[in-house]
Amino acid sequence: MALWRPSQRVRVVVIGLARRDDRLLVLRVLDDSGALKGVRPPGGGVEFGERAADALAREFREELETDIAVEGSPIVVENLFDHEGARGHEIVFAFPVRLLDPTIYTRPAFTIREDNGTVLEVEWLAANGGPAQRPRGAVSRRTPGRHRLNSRRFRIGDSMASARQAQPHKRLLGVIGGSGLYEIPGLTNTRWEKVSSPFGDPSDDFLFAELGRQPVVFLPRHGRGHKHSPTTINYRANIDALKRVGVTDLLSLSAVGSFREELSPGTFVVVDQFIDRTIQRQKSFFGEGMVAHVSMAHPVCARVGDAAYQAAQINGLKVVRGGTYLAMEGPQFSSLAESELYRSWGCHVIGMTNMPEAKLAREAEICYATVAMVTDYDCWHPDHDHVQVADIVRALLENARNACDLVREFVPLMKNRPATCPHGCDRVLDTALITAPAARDPAMLKMLDAVAGRALAAQAK
Ligand SMILES: [Zn+2]
Repeated sequence: MALWRPSQRVRVVVIGLARRDDRLLVLRVLDDSGALKGVRPPGGGVEFGERAADALAREFREELETDIAVEGSPIVVENLFDHEGARGHEIVFAFPVRLLDPTIYTRPAFTIREDNGTVLEVEWLAANGGPAQRPRGAVSRRTPGRHRLNSRRFRIGDSMASARQAQPHKRLLGVIGGSGLYEIPGLTNTRWEKVSSPFGDPSDDFLFAELGRQPVVFLPRHGRGHKHSPTTINYRANIDALKRVGVTDLLSLSAVGSFREELSPGTFVVVDQFIDRTIQRQKSFFGEGMVAHVSMAHPVCARVGDAAYQAAQINGLKVVRGGTYLAMEGPQFSSLAESELYRSWGCHVIGMTNMPEAKLAREAEICYATVAMVTDYDCWHPDHDHVQVADIVRALLENARNACDLVREFVPLMKNRPATCPHGCDRVLDTALITAPAARDPAMLKMLDAVAGRALAAQAK
């Protein structure tokens, strides 16, 4: 995709100023390297012959999926600016607007994934954050008024850089925490936020946060307070909602039992294979009306797994790269016969949650990898019957502490990854959507707007 550059003609542009108290709704604008360059209110160019209000409504629908009410006449700004060495010249009509989707007013900040896979970061920016600061030569004239754009961080010179073109493949890290891991100390700018999904309720609100200025989204798999059993977790809602907020890379942290003597309690195993023995769960986003078959030959993303392995090594943890995770239905643990059977299959660890989670992440084109944290030996081990509950709890707590250390190293390691996954996780649906376009169920396609939005849009071209 071509990077955005200013038009070499004078453009007429509309933007919408949506306010909440003293805050202004803005989208982040990144430069070619993905660094934050500034912010801009939603809006865009007016097509030839198009009414300004219609153009504004169209842009808000495209960028924020909401209708708007225009609440007054515009202020007009002539805007000369430079972007990546190119000069732009715009006449900007800035309208006060009200958002007709009230939920946006209650969300501190959020991300939107467009059909083409681009992620837009949206926030409510404090409009009185400091003195006006204009980029050099950016604004030649502005009309004073109630909607004066005087935030220190708001730079109208950048305002028309279309974020969806300037940041074509922005990546966002997600972390799912399992038993014993319901929060991650050390995160900043934290806020819990409800995210809805057409597939139902996720396990809990999402924790939106930053780690070293990198955005991270955290979800406790069982919910805070451990409300959901492995069987009742809504895996589809979890993965769909993570996709919906823009997560592209997902690290799953999970407590497991061990099938190998050498994988003693406290060992972290960056697994690379699964055997799915779960039987009571919704395992696919697809089905009647839109069938898809994705490959699970290599069920985890090696890039995410490599970073997790490296992060564990940096922390000096006992970590093993590679292993097979057997997912059982539970909630009861295995019988001795089952435990021996799984060992004879060559499995390394056993848990109850990573399937269908890994399958669904693959269907959602999210890069996914698991760190399986050994809590105890499964029942095959002679020590098993002698282990006290207190030992297991101690191992869980210690693993949770080590997992938090791992995440703190993992996040910066993922910072400069290339825009697309070298293993193709982010493009699996290109060859997986089977149902002929005419036979597809529109209601189902609507539910798949996040999971398969990129692939469906690509097919429509
Ligand atoms: Zn990947």
